[in-house]
Amino acid sequence: MPKDNIMAPKPLEDDASYDDQIRPRRLEDFPGQEPIKDKLRIAIQAARQRGEPLDHLLLCGPPGLGKTTLARIIANEMNVDIKQSAGPVIERQADLSAILTSLDEFDILFIDEIHRLNHAVEETLYSAMEDFEVDIMLGKGPTARSMKIGLRPFTLIGATTRAGLLTPPLRARFGDTCRFDLYSPEELECIVTRSARILNVPIEPDGALEIASRSRGTARIANRLLRRVRDFAQVKGDGVITLELADAALKLLRIDDLGLDDMDRQILCVLMDKFGGGPVGAASLAVAVGEERQTLEEVHEPYLIQIGFLKRTPQGRVATPHAFKHLGKPLTTGTDQPRLL
Ligand code: ADP
Repeated sequence: MPKDNIMAPKPLEDDASYDDQIRPRRLEDFPGQEPIKDKLRIAIQAARQRGEPLDHLLLCGPPGLGKTTLARIIANEMNVDIKQSAGPVIERQADLSAILTSLDEFDILFIDEIHRLNHAVEETLYSAMEDFEVDIMLGKGPTARSMKIGLRPFTLIGATTRAGLLTPPLRARFGDTCRFDLYSPEELECIVTRSARILNVPIEPDGALEIASRSRGTARIANRLLRRVRDFAQVKGDGVITLELADAALKLLRIDDLGLDDMDRQILCVLMDKFGGGPVGAASLAVAVGEERQTLEEVHEPYLIQIGFLKRTPQGRVATPHAFKHLGKPLTTGTDQPRLL
């Protein structure tokens, strides 16, 4: 018998299996993004009634909001297979042609980070999307010739964190675009409660809301924090996630009341202390905080903008008075002149 309730250590769960367990499989299990779901329900039903593939679909939004999950759900709802790839992985036209010719009728091809496809591959995609055919090169050098190959009708679902980087011809070939919004704390509470139920973690409603409110509007972060708080509850409490316990665990993780982490605070502090609150260009700000510009723009800024701490202006990024107040800094920092923001 194990002594003092100490059980043999369980093997560590890897991220992929944790993710797989809690990933919603049907539209009704996917809380939030109501306008997208409303639109999709109709599109899916109409396509099924007509016996046609779903129109090509572009999903845009910051990472961790459920673009990949939704693409898989659509495949489930359409009762078709899904093949998954990513823009930077498909290097040659031949790679794309091989994927496209392997698709069965009405299957879904999901391409993540579709804005990162190279030009030649993107061009191959045009005729595949529009006419369901691809040009295949036979032979090499001067004797090479191209041959058109017909494809079975399929649906392309592209996901991007940077819709603005998509070329107009590619964008024009999508039948519809779905823009993901950051989740509200109530929607994230549903997500946390659902994940906790699947993982058999006892959680009180205000414990779930606490994790949700500190998850920066992002489903992936909510699920990740749930996992950390669960560890804390197991070691420091009796396993139940209460409000107090969630708060103590999140403090230990240095996540503040609004969900800001060390990097968010550093971005704001540098903006206030070194650049007098802005405006400063994204590239300079990224260098000053030692972060990739892309990560700054896609991961950190959307939430800081949503909670009204940061503004993107034509002149650059500007910290708002709310941000100064939250970090306990006087409105005039880093500059000789008082700033009116
Ligand atoms: P993205 O492709 O936008 O980066 P993912 O689809 O990979 O995001 O989702 C990240 C994580 O968040 C996954 O574990 C997924 O199960 C979870 N998730 C995302 N959206 C939801 C949602 N609406 N409900 C429940 N879980 C969600």
